[in-house]
Amino acid sequence: MSGRTCSQCGARITRMSRTGLCRPHANARMHADPAYRARRAAGLAAHFAKPGVREAWGKHLQAGLRAYRATMTDEQRQRASDHGRRLIRDYLSQPEIIARALSPEARRKAVAAYVETVMGWCPIPLRLEYSDLVYRKGYSATEAREIIEQQIPGTTAHAKREIASRELASRMRHQRSMAEAY
Ligand SMILES: [Zn+2]
Repeated sequence: MSGRTCSQCGARITRMSRTGLCRPHANARMHADPAYRARRAAGLAAHFAKPGVREAWGKHLQAGLRAYRATMTDEQRQRASDHGRRLIRDYLSQPEIIARALSPEARRKAVAAYVETVMGWCPIPLRLEYSDLVYRKGYSATEAREIIEQQIPGTTAHAKREIASRELASRMRHQRSMAEAY
């Protein structure tokens, strides 16, 4: 111990602190910095835009929740479900709260969040084409995404299509030269 204390709350801090703050206060200051927040948001958005990342994250969360539930005692489970019921009775069933949730503004936000979840990976100019594949032409979400991604440089689907079309071109050249051979 260095005998130093946090300048915000007086908690003891170690020599590792370069800011003169305890860890919670150092974190709070970092997160209050708009430049840091913007960098972090951009980094996260770029990460989640990569194919498969969002899906893998959803699976990871669900597996975590399942594992957590498995460790609960019957009593804890009961308490959690009582808590859920209380929440519905005291809060979610209140008319003014329901009205707020159904307001045009809230609906608009919910729709935007849904679109972002379902199509966040898809560049906006290609979203119409993606919806058309899924909702009119009957492709599954996975198939439609594969088709759309063929048009997005940097995706695996795009690379595959580039390779396939190069191979096709080379096969056709080969066949033509065979046909012209004598
Ligand atoms: Zn502190």
